[in-house]
This record gives sequence, C-alpha cells and structure tokens, in this order.
Amino acid sequence: KIRTRFAPSPTGRMHVGNLRSALYEFLIAKHAGGDFMLRIEDTDQERFVEGAVDIIYDTLAKAGITHDEGPDKDGGYGPYVQSERMKTGIYMKYAKELIEKGEAYYCFCDKERLSTLKTEVVEGKEIMIYDKHCLHLGKEEVEKNLAEGKPFVIRQNIPMEGTTTFHDELYGDITVENAELDDMILIKSDGYPTYNFANVVDDHTMNITHVVRGNEYLSSSPKYQRLYDAFGWKSPVYIHLPLITDENHKKLSKRSGHSSFEDLLEQGFLPEAVVNYIALLGWSPEDNREIFSLDELIKEFDYHRINKSPSVFDYMKLKWMNGEYIKAMADEAFYTMAEPYLKSVIKKDLDLHKIAAMVKTRIEVFPDICDLIDFFETLPEYDPEMYTHKKMKTNKETSLAVLQELCPVFEQQEDYSNDALYQLLTTFAAEHEYKNGYVLWPVRTAVSGKQMTPAGATEIMEILGKEESINRIKKGIE
Ligand code: GLU
Repeated sequence: KIRTRFAPSPTGRMHVGNLRSALYEFLIAKHAGGDFMLRIEDTDQERFVEGAVDIIYDTLAKAGITHDEGPDKDGGYGPYVQSERMKTGIYMKYAKELIEKGEAYYCFCDKERLSTLKTEVVEGKEIMIYDKHCLHLGKEEVEKNLAEGKPFVIRQNIPMEGTTTFHDELYGDITVENAELDDMILIKSDGYPTYNFANVVDDHTMNITHVVRGNEYLSSSPKYQRLYDAFGWKSPVYIHLPLITDENHKKLSKRSGHSSFEDLLEQGFLPEAVVNYIALLGWSPEDNREIFSLDELIKEFDYHRINKSPSVFDYMKLKWMNGEYIKAMADEAFYTMAEPYLKSVIKKDLDLHKIAAMVKTRIEVFPDICDLIDFFETLPEYDPEMYTHKKMKTNKETSLAVLQELCPVFEQQEDYSNDALYQLLTTFAAEHEYKNGYVLWPVRTAVSGKQMTPAGATEIMEILGKEESINRIKKGIE
C-alpha cells in the first residue's frame, strides 16, 4: 500500500513550494488508494516559530488536503511529532546501532576546535569539513568522556574512498564521490536528531513508500542512502521537485510578496484556485487541460508526469485562473466573500447583492471589486472628454444636449427599475431617431463619471435610485 507523508517544519507561513510537496504527496497517495500522513518536524528548536503548527493545520484544511494520519489522528505509527518521537528514544537507539556497525561515531570536539577546521563553500554556504578526528578515539577514551558527561554529537562515518548512488524518479541514478560527502551530524549536542537523520529513521519506521520534497535535499540524499544501506532498509521512492522561481527566474521568496499560501489568500485568491494552480507547477496532464477540482486531480495525477524543469510562478496566470473560479461560484457564496470588499467602499444604503452580481464575471481577485464600484459611493471628477465615443458618434456637445433633453423625462419617470428605464430610454431614442448608444453612452457616463463600468446606464440608475440619478445627470451637464 502506498504511504506518503508531508513533513513540514513549523517555521512560519507555508511557502507555495511546501504546499506543492504536500499536494503531490496527497495526490500520489489518493490516486492509488493509499494513505497520506502528516508529520511535524520540529527538532530544530532554533527555527521553531510559535503558532506555526496551527498555520500548517489551517493551510491543509483550507486547501482540502486531508491527512489520514497525523498528530491529531493516530494511525498506529505515532508519535507524529518529532520532538515527541525523540522522547521515546528511537533516534538514539538507531544512532547507537550505527555506531556498533562502524557507520557512525561519537564526536566530542568543542566549538573552539571546530572553528580551526577547514571550510568549503557549497551552494553559496560555508560548510565546515570535519576531519574525522574523533573517529580515531579509542574505545576507553569514548567511554570515559561519556561517563564524565562530556557534551557530544554523533556523526555519520562516510568513507574517504568509493562512491554512493541513489535513485530519484525525475533525475534518475545519481552517483557521487564519497570524498565529497561530509560526516554530517545525526544527533546534536542537545540530544535532538538532525533533520538529516530523523527523516530517514521516520520514513522507514513509518513505512513511507514515496517521498516528495524540494530539490534542495537532492545533494544530501546520497548520505541518506548510505544510512538506509547501513541499516539494511529499502529506501522510499524519491521525487525531488524543481525549484519554484519568480518571473525573473529567482527563487520565489518572501520578497516577491506572494510566496506563501496565506499571502495569496490575503490577496483575494480562492484556496481552490491556488491548489489548482500549484498542481500545475511541475506537473501536467496528457491533454493541456488546466482547470481541475481536487477530486479531478486525484483521478488524473500520475506522478510519472512530474516535470524537472524549473517552475515559474506566473502570478498573472494564477489571477486568470482565480477569475475562472470566481465566475463558477454560486451567487450566494460569491456574495459572502465579496461583501467585505463591497462594504469597504460602499457606505450608502445601496443594494449590495445587485452590485455583487455586476462584478462577479469581471474580476480576477476580490480586491478588484473596489475600483470597479467606487463610483457608486462617490462620483469621480468629471472629465468632459469622457463623453466622446467614436463608435457611438458622441462628444461633449451631443452628450450635453441629450442629457438636457432627458432631464424632464427623468423627472417625470416614477419607476426606476432597470427594465422600465431601459424601455424609457430606447423609446426616447426611437422617437428622436437616435441610435441607442447615442443616448445610453452619455447617461451612463454622467451617472458613473466613468467610461468603463461593470454595468449599463439603466442598471446603475436602478441601484442609485431616482434622486441620486437625477442629481448626477444635472452635475454632468454643468
Ligand atoms: N522538514 C523538512 C522541510 O520542511 C521536510 C523535508 C522533507 O519532506 O523531507 O523542509
């Protein structure tokens, strides 16, 4: 049975890269009728952020990515939080097993000594190369140090010769020289395991079959493979996902302003649209279809179609997709989400449901609503140029003349419903042998103060009502 896991570290908002890993893990499991598990990786106490675990739960819930097992749903593989797993002694037990096998060793070097060691720059970071000094300590000396309570770490023992090979579904077989791998720390001096060790022990003991994660873990994977081999364990299927970049091909980072799920929701995106968009960041179906519900994704998701070329986060494309999701929303659901934006602009007593219906098909994200409807609340400065419309054959003079003629007509009219007003204006146009647009354009412009509005002249007047409509027409003539 396929078992996948999402293993976030509680370090803050959820980056879209992490959400993509979670989604793919979820889809791989659900596509095959398997189980998807949540594991909290909190062994790096320095990076722990208060409230970040809640963000993880909240994000998964909003995205519809439901786990079958996790800290809140015991499936028999717990504990599901690494700091709690540590208390069971599991990591120490396996680290000692490696020491017995000669695959790991105690290291008592203090900061001072470590600071004198050679460093190397790997992927932009300065890495200290441990010189295996403590590998050569005699058994008695190790025992003595331990008995004295001397602080220690446990390091992986990687041979200086030979090569290590591991397999990734996207990248194929990767072979590296062992001399290039450092003796990484497995257990830290505070007794916590490092991510590097815990991910191996946990994925194995929790029976994980497929691991999806960012390709920043690719370079460490040979070391993980050596751990699996040392224990005689079968490693899971690895899928390292390409980096997500911004439009400038730089790593999508906080600075871009939309790197996390929460950022996107705050910017007015729908969770369903974000999930749909993220699914396509590195995966595509056989046909070029783009709109997928989560259930459809589960059905279609074949992980062999995951792509290894870098994925560009195209904000415009996401906006377009969000617009498609908004158009497909039920009116009431749309209104509920639109209401705060409507109310932030409109303080007058106007029919917000009708205004919402006007904008539903015209926005990509909810905040777009504000600029579309602001004229209902306050009339913008008139610019007489806006009466000019080539196709309608209108300009300032023709428009003001028509509006003058219409003033008494509007005064007499009692029924300000859209239908009645439309009837009134088209009849007026026919009687004067005007084209409809010749009349409707100036009226709409006068009542809105804008050339572009989300609805026609008479729909706007219906909302404004008689008094305000006439006031605006008169102002438009001045
Ligand atoms: N805790 C790691 C992270 O948040 C998980 C990496 C993995 O999936 O193995 O990046």
